[in-house]
Amino acid sequence: MRVLISGAAGFLGSHLVDRFLEEGYDVVGVDNFITGSPDNIAHLLGNPKFSFVEHDVTTFIYVAGQVDGVLHFASPASPIDYLELPIQTLKVGSLGTHKALGLAKAKQARFLLASTSEVYGDPQVHPQPEGYWGHVNPVGPRGVYDEAKRFAEAMTMAYHRTHGVDTRIARIFNTYGPRMRARDGRVVSNFIVQALKGEPLTIYGDGSQTRSFCFASDLVEGILRLFERGDADPVNLGNPSEFTVRELAELILQLTESQSSLVERPLPTDDPKVRRPDISRAQSMLEWSPQVSLEEGLKRTVAHFKAQLGA
Ligand code: NAD
Ligand code: UDP
Repeated sequence: MRVLISGAAGFLGSHLVDRFLEEGYDVVGVDNFITGSPDNIAHLLGNPKFSFVEHDVTTFIYVAGQVDGVLHFASPASPIDYLELPIQTLKVGSLGTHKALGLAKAKQARFLLASTSEVYGDPQVHPQPEGYWGHVNPVGPRGVYDEAKRFAEAMTMAYHRTHGVDTRIARIFNTYGPRMRARDGRVVSNFIVQALKGEPLTIYGDGSQTRSFCFASDLVEGILRLFERGDADPVNLGNPSEFTVRELAELILQLTESQSSLVERPLPTDDPKVRRPDISRAQSMLEWSPQVSLEEGLKRTVAHFKAQLGA
């Protein structure tokens, strides 16, 4: 089996490449490095089962030979990134998804879309089941990401219904772990780097907003199971343990033994107040649930950033 993974040089994409190679797949990675890094796949160069194409997936994707699966992970994902790259974000979610689906159709390959909990926006139903249609501001600054992913889901279902493409939609909730960039802007990387450098931890708003943090290896296991034995309807993948942002900051201070203070900064526009996945569908269909606690996952992520900052 040979799969193509877009966004292969990113945080999640590169972990996914590693896992699919471990499972015996041949993998073609595609990335234009807009938010990713060659460092994330450097260890794979020379592996005969891995090949890499530097390419912007918003334009036609050419791959010679057999392709059995297309996993579309290309997209800026950190709010800082997609607010800086609004048009690229809209294009990769719309045109990029269309090109990736076109490739899957041409090769009669299975297709998996990396969607997001952001399709639920600032949710009015809590926790969020897949049947919830969401509460998104289309013209707010976050709309570029949320609406691109909502369009991507609609396009995926259209290819499934119209062309019979075998598709999957993973709605991924906040995931963290090694290979996040230090300057990624997401809360886990920001807080760990700030704590390790002895800088104040920047809490946006009063820190009472909640998120549910999933460790990368758990997420990758869920994606693999969804790809191999899921169905076309969207599936939430995330860790249902919910924490306030302030609780996260305090846990990171404790784990890093940092003396950093906490400072409040303005809450970004349309920042969701709560977020927590209802994972009953993934539990029953995929027999999947996260195994790594927040404390354990943070310890491993701290070790990664210590090594990166030390280097
Ligand atoms: P990331 O920024 O580390 O990785 C994204 C990768 O996509 C980067 O390597 C980037 O260079 C590449 N890319 C972007 N536009 C491209 C284009 N036009 N052509 C080719 N490559 C392009 O982010 P991540 O956290 O690894 O996210 C990966 C995917 O998972 C994204 O689709 C994101 O929306 C989704 N997701 C992630 C999370 C999370 O918490 N990490 C949550 C929900 C959804
Ligand atoms: N956040 C914060 N300080 C930071 C970065 C983020 O308080 O330095 C907050 C942010 O406002 C949000 C939560 O942490 O409420 C998660 O933010 P992140 O950027 O990781 O992802 P989001 O879940 O918003 O997509």
